[in-house]
Amino acid sequence: MSLQPLSRKNWNETDIVMELAAPEQILNWAIETYASGLVMATAFGPEGCILLAMLAGLGERGRTVRVFNLETGYQFEETLAMKRTILEKYGIDVEWVRPGSEAAELEMRSGKPLYSVDPAECCRLRKVEPLRRSLIGHTAWISSIRRDQTPDRSCVDIVDWDEKFNLVKISPLANWSRKDVWGYIRENDVPYNPLHDQGYASIGCYPCTIPIRIGESERSGRWAGTGRTECGLHSQERTRE
Ligand code: SF4
Repeated sequence: MSLQPLSRKNWNETDIVMELAAPEQILNWAIETYASGLVMATAFGPEGCILLAMLAGLGERGRTVRVFNLETGYQFEETLAMKRTILEKYGIDVEWVRPGSEAAELEMRSGKPLYSVDPAECCRLRKVEPLRRSLIGHTAWISSIRRDQTPDRSCVDIVDWDEKFNLVKISPLANWSRKDVWGYIRENDVPYNPLHDQGYASIGCYPCTIPIRIGESERSGRWAGTGRTECGLHSQERTRE
């Protein structure tokens, strides 16, 4: 695959090429284009595990991409254990990124967990701001979102400009379906969070995640009953022409 370095002038051409490219090609292009400016965030979801497998498949170049997880302090034990699983299988050491002290201080003062009184602020302090800090100094980040997951994600381009965090956002699996994801996992023996076998379709922090029933939407177990489907990492206004 031959792609010119991304610029405003060739956004449209790049969009078309990326839609037709395999995710491994997109990752390879991203490493060539952004080098040490490239970073990946993962919550160890099935899509993230696929991208980690693909990075490992690119050899040492893929393994040197910095990868981190937003460790809110409320992740399931099964999620935390994925760090070791990925390291052992793919040789990629996912870094923990932990929040600052603001959320804990608010909780000390109120005597209540922030997620129970203001989940939006909890997500902001435990996810969005740590991500913002972690992206400083980088020029592009890899995300594992798919367009069919939520309305906020439905119009993301595979290579997009992230207005919220002010860098390029690359989502190599944006045009994949849930069926594509699980087909790839089975065919390639990619490890995944065992909670998925217990009815958890999408896994975040344990106070805000429940299993879903057959027929319910993929993210209906996140902040169930509140109408929220996003923590704020992937929701933003689009300003591209
Ligand atoms: Fe807090 Fe829940 Fe958001 Fe985790 S998902 S940061 S516990 S509100």
